[in-house]
Formats: sequence, structure tokens, C-alpha cells
Amino acid sequence: QNERDSQFIVSDFAKNHYHRLLLNSEEGMSIGYGYLKERGLNLATIQQFELGYSLDSWDDLMKTAEKAGYDKKYLEKSGLIVTKTDDQGHDTGRRYDRFRGRVMFPIHNISGRVVGFGARTLKRDDKMAKYLNSPESDIYHKSDVLYGLFQARQAIRTEEVCYLVEGYLDVLSLYQGGIKNVVASSGTSLTEGQIRLIKRYSDNVTVLYDGDAAGIKASLRGTDLLLESGLNVRVVLFPDGDDPDSYIRKVGDQRFAQYIEKSSQDFITFKTTLVAREASNDPVKKAEAIRDVLNSIAKVPDAIKRQVFLQQTSATFGIDEQVLITEYNKLVKAPAA
Ligand code: ATP
Ligand code: MN
Ligand code: MN
Ligand code: MN
Repeated sequence: QNERDSQFIVSDFAKNHYHRLLLNSEEGMSIGYGYLKERGLNLATIQQFELGYSLDSWDDLMKTAEKAGYDKKYLEKSGLIVTKTDDQGHDTGRRYDRFRGRVMFPIHNISGRVVGFGARTLKRDDKMAKYLNSPESDIYHKSDVLYGLFQARQAIRTEEVCYLVEGYLDVLSLYQGGIKNVVASSGTSLTEGQIRLIKRYSDNVTVLYDGDAAGIKASLRGTDLLLESGLNVRVVLFPDGDDPDSYIRKVGDQRFAQYIEKSSQDFITFKTTLVAREASNDPVKKAEAIRDVLNSIAKVPDAIKRQVFLQQTSATFGIDEQVLITEYNKLVKAPAA
């Protein structure tokens, strides 16, 4: 057996350990399970996604794993334990668990094997990061993994659309609410590898990012890649301050599904109206905004779709279509950065 196999094995062990702690230890049940219940998750969801809890201890995982005969080396390689280094960066020989006192979200690859973890702190005010993630490793390549895809893949096929959200809790709440075709990029901006994964299952993506400035910015940033890959991209915006998780909890499953249905809009249409609104009547800004939209349109591989978008853009900005097409052609010949 090789190195990767050993890493898969310790990750699986850790997943089972954290899951057992969540459901069977006093600390895990009162703190971890209590937290997840408060956030509306039920046992079925917790089991389906194999959620867990890491004890608030420096070495619980390390000790338990050693007792069970696992080699520390592989715990380290998969980032489950951390080596303390001194100021010069030398190994001090001290080791400790990376995840302590957190709710654990195992990240599965497409065949259902655990490759890493996301972990949420339960403390409210905290200098520590709200989420901690496993580092890259031989088995965990962040840019080639989508959280929830293992559980979502059948539904993405049958529903013929993949919902893309930002966070773990967004995936879990929607899944529990009956929207099973949902995955998360988990904080990182979308990569080509992740898009390739989606394309295996569907040509349609609907982006459901947080209704804050960061979410809107992220949705504008990540989507050009989606367009280039030939996916049909739609966007749903949530009321300011809500993310898919908080919104489905607020309005319930049925109204959430209706909301998605009625407020989803084509990405380029969305971008066009957004930048057109921001540019208002300032001619310089307006010209910039139009170029911005034309750049996005240029990413669309399908010529018919491009044509439709050009017509639409000309209408939104009140620019003669022929003028727009001339500009568009110039832009494609000399593509700006
Ligand atoms: P919650 O609802 O539990 O507060 P969230 O998912 O709504 O969490 P956001 O702040 O919207 O949290 O962040 C979206 C996603 O970005 C998270 O689910 C997580 O994957 C990632 N993320 C957020 N904060 C961090 C962080 N400090 N370090 C690494 N990843 C993070
Ligand atoms: Mn956010
Ligand atoms: Mn969020
Ligand atoms: Mn949230």
C-alpha cells in the first residue's frame, strides 16, 4: 500500500472518531450536537454528511490514533496534527491536534472517501478563524474538490442544474430542505478543476452566493470562468445579510424553492443591469461598463447565445446594436486583459 492509501486510511479513521465523539461523548453531544441542532440540522443530515466534533483537547485525536496503531506520520501528512516549529522554523518535536473544539465537516471526494476537513469554531467572539480547513496534501487538492458533490451528484443529473453556494452550512441546510443538487466551493474562488467536476453532471449552474457585498463581488469574479467553460450560468441574489442557509431557515423549504425559481436570472443579464445601474448616466463609466459586459459575452463559446446577449446589452444600455457589434468585434480581435 502506498502513501496515499495510508492518508486515506487515517482520514477515514479521524472522520469516524469525530463522528463518534459528536454522537456518543458528553462534550460532543452537549456542545457539538447542541450547536448543530440549534442551526436546524437533524440526525439524518448529520449522518449522511458524517459530521463530527473534535474535543477541546491538544492531543485527543493523536492519542486515540496512536493507541489504535496508526502511524503519526500520516496524521501529519494529512494535516490532522501539526508540528510546532521554533523561530528558525526547526521542528521542536512537539505535536498537537489541528482541530480542537470544533464541529467537523468531512470533505469527500467523488468516490466518497474523506480527503480533508472543514471545521467551525463554536465560540462566538473569537480571534481564531471561524473556519479552519485541512491543508493541501497528497490526497486533498482543494482546487479539484467541491463540498457536497459526493452526496449531490445524482440529484445534479436528474435536476439538470447544480446549485453553487459559498459555505458548508448552506449545502447542509438546502440538502435537508430537499434541494439536494447543491455544492460549495468553500470559501475559495471557483477553479477550473471544480468547474470540470460540475460539467460531468450538468451544463447548468445557478450561483447562490451570500447577499452581502463580498458575495456579489465573488459571484461577478468567479463566473467568467463558468461562462468560458460553456456552462449556462444563472444567479440568485438574497436579501442583504442573508445567505442561502439563513434564508431557507427564515422562509422555509417551500418558499425558498419558489424564491429560487422566480428570482434566478441569467448571469450576463444580471451583470448587465448591475453595471448599467452603477454607471448611471456618466458617459465614461457607461463606456467602461459596456466593455466590461462585452468582455463577459466574449467568453461565451456559443455564437447564438452571444448574439442574444449582444442584443440584450444594446437594449439595456440604449446603444445602437450595430455600434455595439462593431465595438465587440474590435474587442475580440484585440482582447484586453
Ligand atoms: P456560518 O453560517 O457558519 O457562520 P458561513 O458559511 O455563512 O458560516 P461565511 O463567512 O459566509 O460563512 O463564509 C463562507 C465560507 O467561506 C465558509 O463556509 C467557509 O468555507 C469559508 N470561510 C469563511 N471564513 C473562513 C476562514 N476564516 N478561513 C477559511 N475559510 C473560511
Ligand atoms: Mn459571506
Ligand atoms: Mn455565509
Ligand atoms: Mn452562514
